[in-house]
Amino acid sequence: MTIDHEVKRRRTFAIISHPDAGKTTLTEKLLLFAGAIHIAGSVKARKASRHATSDWMEIEKQRGISVASSVMQMEYRDCVINLLDTPGHQDFSEDTYRVLTAVDAALMVIDAANGVEAQTLRLLQVCRARNTPIITFVNKMDREVREPLDLIDEIERTLGMDTIPFTWPIGMGKSFHGVYDLQHKHMRVFRPGADRSGQDEVEIIKDLNHPSVLQRFGMSLTQAQQEIELILDAAPQFDQDAFLAGHQTPVFFGSAINNFGVQEVLDTLVELAPSPSARCALQREVLPTEAKFSGVVFKIQANMNPAHRDRIAFVRICSGEFKRGINLKVVRSGKEVRTNTVVSFLSQRRELLETAYAGDIIGIPNHGTLQLADTLTAGEALQFTGLPFFAPEIFQTVEIADPLRSKQLKLGLTQLGEEGAIQVFRPHIGSILLLGAVGILQFEVVTHRLKYEYGVEARIAPAKYQLARWVTADNPRELQRFIEANAHRIAYDAVDAPTFLASFAAEISVAEENWPAIRFHKMREHA
Ligand code: GDP
Repeated sequence: MTIDHEVKRRRTFAIISHPDAGKTTLTEKLLLFAGAIHIAGSVKARKASRHATSDWMEIEKQRGISVASSVMQMEYRDCVINLLDTPGHQDFSEDTYRVLTAVDAALMVIDAANGVEAQTLRLLQVCRARNTPIITFVNKMDREVREPLDLIDEIERTLGMDTIPFTWPIGMGKSFHGVYDLQHKHMRVFRPGADRSGQDEVEIIKDLNHPSVLQRFGMSLTQAQQEIELILDAAPQFDQDAFLAGHQTPVFFGSAINNFGVQEVLDTLVELAPSPSARCALQREVLPTEAKFSGVVFKIQANMNPAHRDRIAFVRICSGEFKRGINLKVVRSGKEVRTNTVVSFLSQRRELLETAYAGDIIGIPNHGTLQLADTLTAGEALQFTGLPFFAPEIFQTVEIADPLRSKQLKLGLTQLGEEGAIQVFRPHIGSILLLGAVGILQFEVVTHRLKYEYGVEARIAPAKYQLARWVTADNPRELQRFIEANAHRIAYDAVDAPTFLASFAAEISVAEENWPAIRFHKMREHA
């Protein structure tokens, strides 16, 4: 009974955007409005003072970008909200893709001046592939931005979803007066300032046609009224099923920095976003309300606390209840995991966790027992699917200045590889390790971390390969024959899966033609 109740009140979602759209600002405001933090500006200030919740790593501080995703939990109304931050920079999109596998919904932040940007588009494609429901927040209405009709038209066209405006802006920039709430049929008046919180009074106007109102807001209001008429005519009705299937997205306009429009987003998350649903394992479908615990590792973060050198595995609970001290098993290795030091992410502090339920994210400190995509259960042999690994698009070789440090290099690369920060390949012939990444910044992060966390000065040099494909075959002998025949182009990844390396796409096509029994994969899902 409690499990049903607890699962039902969970909302687990990721916040996604192109860098600079206002994700950090909105995250902070959501925490503020939910009462999880009390001082506006703390997430931002920490970001500025180079200590944001999500900025664990030095490199983020230097570049002011979020590399690592982080998790925040808050209670709002009678719901428990788990908010997963994602790195906006495309070089870390692999990390973001994995985070998206751990959520039930996504909140997309769009900069009203820029519309749908490249990175938003890529992330959205991942959401669409998984039918993740999406709520859209169009930010920065206090600036001179694009026409709202134009914006929603672009969202529809580029993202291939019906937009359902829940609010509509009245004016923009200096004459941004507020939003018309299409659900409640009233206007909420905009007041600039970042110091308000959810408890403050918002001025609400019910009769927009009152002469004094028309006079107060002038042209902006008349124009907004015409636009609203247009959308009411043209836009389809909001349909909960279409939203849950990722075909419709509710759209809100606001200004995160001015705390405007945030409350509506929070309320919508609670009212419309889904509670945790069933998840697919290779063996069967797992319901969140099943009594027994099961969960999947979607992220590993090493050395979050440099003093402890610990590694935290972020686990999405897929079913059941977690209680401190319960026995959990890693299905892949059969090893037991100690759960008395498991942490929660309540309002940004890492705290020891007593209980958690399906939908929650828990952090398990470990020393290498847990890997990405591992399934944890109370004993049942389950393997959750769907955690993607993408074929690297850039390869570099790695060597060290001091050969005496080669052990540390290996340790560092193994751990960073297990974290998914980089992919490490061991060549079939020779001993020089290859590093593979989707974005070039990943190499910077890795060299930096090798130096500061493992004391290894690594030299990274371009490798001659540009492409990799995981290779499989129904007949193991056929695969072996392929590997032997192409030995100089074969390397093994962290779980010893063989990959075929190429410098040009044409080489892959040729190999595909010559070896019909071999399958070439761009993406690997851990099993
Ligand atoms: P992120 O990179 O997506 O996390 O974006 P940030 O939250 O760091 O915001 C990027 C910049 O936009 C910062 O300078 C913010 O102060 C600014 N910003 C965020 N929200 C608003 C807004 O509603 N209006 C205006 N004018 N600026 C905003």
